[in-house]
Amino acid sequence: MIEDKNQEKTGLDQLGEFELINHLTKNFTLQHKSSIMGIGDDAAVMDFSNKKAVMSTDLLIEGVHFDLSYMPLKHLGYKSVMVNLSDIYAMNAIATQITVSIAVSNRFPLEALEEFYSGVALACEIYKVDLVGGDTTSSTKGMLISVTAVGEADEADIVYRSGAKPNDLLVVSGDLGGAYCGLQVLEREKEVFKVNPNNQPDLSPYTYIVERQLKPEARKDIKGLLQQLEILPTSMIDISDGLSSEILHLCSKSAVGCNVYENKIPLDPTVISACEEFKIDSTLVALSGGEDYELLFTIDQKDFPKIKGNPHFTVIGHMTDKNEGAHLISRGDAKIPLTAQGWNSFS
Ligand code: ADP
Ligand code: MG
Repeated sequence: MIEDKNQEKTGLDQLGEFELINHLTKNFTLQHKSSIMGIGDDAAVMDFSNKKAVMSTDLLIEGVHFDLSYMPLKHLGYKSVMVNLSDIYAMNAIATQITVSIAVSNRFPLEALEEFYSGVALACEIYKVDLVGGDTTSSTKGMLISVTAVGEADEADIVYRSGAKPNDLLVVSGDLGGAYCGLQVLEREKEVFKVNPNNQPDLSPYTYIVERQLKPEARKDIKGLLQQLEILPTSMIDISDGLSSEILHLCSKSAVGCNVYENKIPLDPTVISACEEFKIDSTLVALSGGEDYELLFTIDQKDFPKIKGNPHFTVIGHMTDKNEGAHLISRGDAKIPLTAQGWNSFS
């Protein structure tokens, strides 16, 4: 973290725990009818009346999931929320509430936490979710963040990983590989900075991919887009770990196989040029890069005309019988078994 030595910093020990929580969360207001009680009691209270509640949680550890040397804290706050909302949207639900829990060491001043919460606040505002609680504690080393997201959906609208059938089409939103390419750019700049701290990098050619890494947007819009098209996916998952591992999850939960066509995988032109520059294979990046937070889903073949040519969606393959396995059909027409090279937190 580059710190301005001239700026006054407030040590967290100067505030009591109550004062700290109050300071960080005082500007958050509740928007949803379902949020009955937010921050300020022993537990939040929610009322989903005739809807089903969906819930998902993630734990992010400094040095494992994020690097503060190139991740501004405001972006980190925003991204921590996105990662969780993406899971709610992957159930075809609407995200309504979050809790945010943090543990920080005494190297973090109050101003750092304010930055983090400004990112959380921006995410809450744009994505229309209520911050209804959390926990604040100290860590001996580094920062830990845990976000829990809650959402609601009609029971009939909820889409699980397990509903794909042979011959269903495999569809992805947006484009893939950008977040990984952005990370490569940031890692390179970090090394350059170590050698020459005065170097001001020109990252403008990489704006899209760096934003995909630092400021990902969860696909809140997909539920509505599919509703307009009168499509209910048969299965769905969000792409957090890389296309191949998510495809394999759908295949295993749905007990089907899959053929994915290399030439159909949607790539932004800046991803293609970054892959050329870094001498990495763009297909491999899309398959294993991760952190794209797009949605991957299957639809019945009869829905193909409804989705054909839609700029938000790309049909990248189709499901098969389980015993055919999961394969990538290469540009050269080779049939390559898909492996879960998606990012693995234990590797
Ligand atoms: P407890 O001792 O019961 O855990 P706390 O003092 O930790 O209570 O929390 C008081 C209130 O503040 C609760 O509503 C809790 O959800 C909320 N809260 C605590 N920490 C955070 C945080 N980091 N972000 C948002 N809300 C928080
Ligand atoms: Mg607490």
